[in-house]
Formats: sequence, C-alpha cells, structure tokens
Amino acid sequence: MKVRRGEGNIEVQDVSEPEVGPGEVKIEVKAAGICGTDIHIYHDEFMVNPPVILGHEFCGVVKEVGENVTEFKVGDRVTSETAARVCGKCMFCRTGDYNLCPERLGLGYGVNGAFTKFCVVRKEIVHHLSDNVDFISGALCEPLSCAVHGTIEQTGVEAGDVVVVIGPGPLGLLSSQISKVEGGYVVVLGLSIDEGKLSLAKKLGADLVVNIARGDPEEIIKDLTRGYGADVVLECSGSSPGAKLGLKLVRKKGKFTQMGLFGKPIKIDFEQIAYKELKVTGFFSQKWTAWEKALKLLEQGKVQTKPLVTEKLPITEWRKGFEKKEKGEAIKTVLYPVD
Ligand SMILES: [Zn+2]
Ligand SMILES: [Zn+2]
Repeated sequence: MKVRRGEGNIEVQDVSEPEVGPGEVKIEVKAAGICGTDIHIYHDEFMVNPPVILGHEFCGVVKEVGENVTEFKVGDRVTSETAARVCGKCMFCRTGDYNLCPERLGLGYGVNGAFTKFCVVRKEIVHHLSDNVDFISGALCEPLSCAVHGTIEQTGVEAGDVVVVIGPGPLGLLSSQISKVEGGYVVVLGLSIDEGKLSLAKKLGADLVVNIARGDPEEIIKDLTRGYGADVVLECSGSSPGAKLGLKLVRKKGKFTQMGLFGKPIKIDFEQIAYKELKVTGFFSQKWTAWEKALKLLEQGKVQTKPLVTEKLPITEWRKGFEKKEKGEAIKTVLYPVD
C-alpha cells in the first residue's frame, strides 16, 4: 500500500476485507504482476491517490457478487480491466474510448488495487478467463491488452511489414508476438543487459534480435528493406535514445508508435515527423475491445505470457520484486497473497 505521496512510502498493512456493492464483483486475487508503473509510483513519479493498495495486473476467482450481477458467479475464473471508475457521460465514454475519460480512476493507483487478497471491481470491467489459461498467464492479461491496443488498434501492422520493436521488456516481448500474429517481420532491438530478454524474444517468434552494442541497427534495417527503413517502429523502451533511434529507423511515410513511457519530457528532433511524413501515435491503457482480443489470443495459444514471468513472490516480499524490476533483472515478477 502506498501510504502517502513522496519517495517510497510503501508498506504492507492489514486491511479489512472489502465490501461488495451493487453491480460489483469481489475477486480473490491469485496472481498480480509488478509493472513499471508501480516502480514510478514508488519513486513518486506517477499520479496516485494515497492511501491506496497498488497492483493493476491480476486475475483470480470470484468470491462474491453484488446485487444485479448475473454475468458472474462465485468460483468463476476472471481477470479485470483497470478502468475502475469512469464518468459514463463524456465523448470518450460514449464512443468506447473510456480509457481516455478525464474522470477515469485507475485500479491500483486511483482506487485500491490487487496486491492484496480481495479486490472489488465493477462488473463491466470483469472478463472470464478461459480454463486453458492458468493464473500466472492470466495475471499478464493487462499488459497484453495494452500491447494489443497499441499494436493492433492504434498502429495496425500489415502482413509483410518490417516491424522494429525497441526494448525487449514485457511490452516489447508482447508487442513483438502480436506483430508476428499480424503478419509482420519482427526485429527486436536491445542493449547488452538485455541479452537474456533478446533470446526470449527470439524463442517467442521474433524473426531477428539485435544487441545494438554489437550490430548496427541502421545497416540491418536498410538491408531488410531495400534501403527504405522500417515500415513500423514500436518504441517500447520508454527511453530517449530509444525514441531517437526509432525516428531514424522508420521509413518515410512509415508508422511510429510511442508505446513505452518516459516518465519525464525528453528532447527529440520532432521535425522528422514532417520531413518523413510519419504517422505518429501512442496509446494509453486499454479498453474492452483490446481485452477481448488479448484473451482470445491467449486462449488460442497465439501469444504466450507465462515465459515472461521470471519470479513468483508472496506480497510480503514485494520489495525484492520491485528492486529486481528496477535493476532490469526481472522481466515480470508476479506477487501472490498470503494468509
Ligand atoms: Zn501495468
Ligand atoms: Zn467519461
């Protein structure tokens, strides 16, 4: 729980079991992933409403349902979106883009999240988890939905596109798999500290992985594209050198999507967008359509999330998980509640 704003200020506390209201579902958490956002929250670099229980990537089993809930019953295996509260009235809510609602409160920072035993959410954001998807894989539905939203809904990869994924973190590893499913030729770029993640990217289907300390990405991409450059760049590292490299690698009239978050303003040659006539976009969070697609991809076995999980820890050992995430030693750590 983030107890107040400022650096750190995260503690394990005993809390009472939350009540379930009308239209709400109480989920017994089975697994919850640590996200880069949680690290930003630790360092007070992200909007948060303390005191609040962190954790927004999770799945579990329905423990109790409130009045007017007929879609779910006790014992159902489920996962949940993060748009805990939205206004329901604005342009974005009315057109299905409720992830952009100005009044949106996110699970795990706006309202209590999933690094706990029971999490209560409104029924509209709950999704069934198919029986062939285990809880560890299911805990990563949220980042997978983000990657689906960014890669498919916002960018649109076409068959034959040379897709450059910068940064083999969770978002990069998921976006790379999705780009493959969409028919792209996928090149994943990373640094020397990413060697392990790059070989995982290769195992998960990337056509080519490049440690940019060893190979020159500009030359490699030119060779693959008759000198034109990448059709699509998905910048998943959220780093300023990554974004600069991406703008260099993308071809004229190509697509550049900022997938990772920098956490601060960066300096970049914005004029390239004009010179190259680029289509530049980004994404924020996810919405119903992306969730349904993500869940189908998991169910059909077209995308795998489990190989990204490097460690499972009880919630009481959260600090160890946060530290490993920050040092880049873990790809995805999953926490589980203890009695
Ligand atoms: Zn996340
Ligand atoms: Zn709204």
